[in-house]
Amino acid sequence: MKTSEIMQAWGTILSGRSPSLSIEITRECPLRCPGCYAYEEGHLGLPGVTLRQLADYKGRALVQGVLSLIDEHRPLHVSFVGGDPLVRFRELEELLPEVNRRGIHAQVVTSAFRPIPLEWNALSLLNVVVSVDGLQPEHDVRRKPATYDRILKNVAGSKVTIHCTVTGQMMERPGYLEEFVRFWSGRHETKRIWFSLFTPQQGAAAPEILTPAQRRRFTEELLPLLVAYPLIDMKKGLIEQFHKPPSSPEDCIFARTTLTVSADLKTRITPCQFGGDPDCSQCGCVASMALAAVGNHRVMPGVTAGQLFAISELIGKGVKRLRSLHDPGKAAASPEAVIEQEAA
Ligand code: SF4
Ligand code: SF4
Repeated sequence: MKTSEIMQAWGTILSGRSPSLSIEITRECPLRCPGCYAYEEGHLGLPGVTLRQLADYKGRALVQGVLSLIDEHRPLHVSFVGGDPLVRFRELEELLPEVNRRGIHAQVVTSAFRPIPLEWNALSLLNVVVSVDGLQPEHDVRRKPATYDRILKNVAGSKVTIHCTVTGQMMERPGYLEEFVRFWSGRHETKRIWFSLFTPQQGAAAPEILTPAQRRRFTEELLPLLVAYPLIDMKKGLIEQFHKPPSSPEDCIFARTTLTVSADLKTRITPCQFGGDPDCSQCGCVASMALAAVGNHRVMPGVTAGQLFAISELIGKGVKRLRSLHDPGKAAASPEAVIEQEAA
């Protein structure tokens, strides 16, 4: 994160807004990945309702609904997630140039089960993130029909970020990470490589969850690769953060600076994009670790960026309260305000 971006984000927080907006633009996905959190009971925080049952939008209604959300919240960064956002690729073809024109950074997180439109190469503020769950044998089992062969065909001619969510099974084999990085570093389409670790819900048991020893081995194996494989876009400070994830959502800068809205463009996912009751002590989200690392930076003697953020957030909340007193109609229209009113 550049200093100018931190200053911009700081200004947004001071004005009571979230610098980052994440939108589950569709409930639909052609994949059925084991361990997918989006369709779990509890993800939405609505008793008995899963993402598959939520109303979602298509066509003009989706485009207009998303642009209204963006114009209302004026974030610096928007993530389009799902389901798989490429299910709504026609709507994205309209939305992404609009978002780019507004000077907002955008990210589309997809399995690349269908081709990435080549026109998206012209959008300077867009980052397409392709989820690849390990090497081909493991990935193809987990993420059929978005197999390696299909991904390689669908990203041809594009520049994408490869994002691997590391599981316990992958860490059983020494050298797995390097094999993965070597393969993707050799592809023209790879712009950068990110790793996250599988993040469980509280009390969950699954083979995807890394043991403490596997978590240690992940950082021990990844750190030496930074020199030989410059496409790994993760600094040492970020990687070390995987050993001390935020202790709770209140302690997580990422969760507190990102507003996540589901497919009905109204329901807010809390406390973070995982929804439900995530186990922060085992968090492996690369975005959370990146912001935690930024939060550790000293911005002046004795003051970290994280402390400055906490004070700014308090001021921002006051500003927001004042604004809603002056313009109650507008405040009530925001998904955030709707949820707050429903909970009151
Ligand atoms: S592609 Fe994403 S949303 Fe779809 S099943 Fe897999 S993890 Fe879930
Ligand atoms: S992103 Fe990770 S640390 Fe932050 S609230 Fe979610 S699970 Fe907890």
